[in-house]
Amino acid sequence: MSIDNIMKRLTEILGITRDVLEKKVGRTIRIMSYRGIDYVVLREDVGGYREGTIVLLNDEKIIHGYPGIRRLALLEGVPLHMVDEIIVEEKMNGYNVRVVLAGNKVLAITRGGYICPYTTARIEKMYGDRLREALSEYEDVVLAGEVIGTENPYVVYEYPEARGFDYFVFDVMKNGALAPLSLRDEIVDKYGLKRVPVLARLNKNELEKLREIVDDLDRRGREGIVIKDPMHRVPPLKYTTIYINIKDIEEGMKYPFDEGRSYLFSRIIRLVCQAYEYGLSDEELDHIALRLGRAVLRPAVESLKKRSMGRLIAATYKLVFPSEEDLRDYLEFLEELGVDVVVKIIGTSREGVKAELMKLKDTHGYYSKILETGYSPLD
Ligand code: ATP
Ligand code: MG
Repeated sequence: MSIDNIMKRLTEILGITRDVLEKKVGRTIRIMSYRGIDYVVLREDVGGYREGTIVLLNDEKIIHGYPGIRRLALLEGVPLHMVDEIIVEEKMNGYNVRVVLAGNKVLAITRGGYICPYTTARIEKMYGDRLREALSEYEDVVLAGEVIGTENPYVVYEYPEARGFDYFVFDVMKNGALAPLSLRDEIVDKYGLKRVPVLARLNKNELEKLREIVDDLDRRGREGIVIKDPMHRVPPLKYTTIYINIKDIEEGMKYPFDEGRSYLFSRIIRLVCQAYEYGLSDEELDHIALRLGRAVLRPAVESLKKRSMGRLIAATYKLVFPSEEDLRDYLEFLEELGVDVVVKIIGTSREGVKAELMKLKDTHGYYSKILETGYSPLD
């Protein structure tokens, strides 16, 4: 399809004037293709469409972006924003994937609006038939869920229930809006899909119960909760555990000039509010302070030592491609996006092709400079 043709189709499908769209091509609007499916990604909010919205040009289908979820600093905020009854769900720590059907193909779409060939291949292999059936019956529905586990190129976090890779549905979307949770449950149950753990159905004023749930997740090393109105009459809220806030810092500080930098302040503020709301004693605070201090320093020092020994400061991801073709498609996708990574094939087994993906971090460069010059890159 020519650019001109694509723009014409896009204005028709989205109902946005051509000059508004034209200015955005290349930056906000990105044209991509996957296995003969031409699609457009909205990388920012445009003309009333949310960031992460994707348009399948052949099917003339708009798949709206998944809405952002407001974070609570204090659980005390719950009664202020919810209506009456609330559903408390586990917030799983993975990456957001919308699943749709295009023709007969199951597509896995990332939060940003890209059809991820890797995620698509893994989900197809695990749930392809069930998803095809479900989405043929519920034609106007988009599934939204979290991919969790250790075998992906985005968020690596171990879940005993995921064994490498799995997909847990948390919402169903219709015309860009979140549908009542009863519809999600109906579809998940009918087609044998998995759903994020639903932890409780409470009244919005039951803060003590809410706290117990969060404490339990904290002890179990889980991320947190999402609080939803059963009908999504008001937007959901998210709240995370002390455990994950510190854990994120520990992971992020392997790369102080990358995630480390951006994680620190937000997570510290989360901890400050938690300490206040939980009424932590000086002794409890000291205990957290030690964990926090370790999380800040240890991984960062470890990485600097590693660099001084000539090693690369890079994040590595384990991937398992169901087929050679899936691997090829994924490599092509990376090239199209222009991301700078190295993919190493480890070997082939019954499960497919095992590979390792390496992303060099900015910290590698910063640390190299520090070690070469002795200068600090910051004042
Ligand atoms: P946001 O823009 O929504 O704030 P973010 O990229 O900062 O997103 P998170 O802080 O992880 O992400 O919080 C929102 C995300 O949590 C959702 O987009 C979704 O991927 C994930 N999630 C996990 N479990 C659930 C759940 N039960 N309900 C809704 N979202 C969930
Ligand atoms: Mg997340």
